[in-house]
Amino acid sequence: MANLTKCAICDNTYSYCPNCANTHAWKFYTDTHECYQIFMVIMQYKKGLMPKDEAKGVLEHLGITLESNFDNYRQSVAKTMKEILTVEKTAIKPVEETTVIKKNKKSKLYKD
Ligand SMILES: [Zn+2]
Repeated sequence: MANLTKCAICDNTYSYCPNCANTHAWKFYTDTHECYQIFMVIMQYKKGLMPKDEAKGVLEHLGITLESNFDNYRQSVAKTMKEILTVEKTAIKPVEETTVIKKNKKSKLYKD
């Protein structure tokens, strides 16, 4: 029998079927696979398993940017997503100067 449950990401009510969950484990947490991807990013980011820039990349890949409408998500989720998407302005690392290998002129061993 299907149970009604709420998506951990968008707060949608959906029916959770334990039988389906055997093949789609993510249905335990979220209503759609997209929500589950967000769920995983947030979980891993919060646990410190995923660096912020990587999390940001995944969210952007899912089409989520700071301009997105966050009203569809749970408040805590929206907050975390905004946090991930907001990049602190850090100075761009200057490209390390490639060591210029000066061609040493071979000292003339044999002088005329
Ligand atoms: Zn959802």
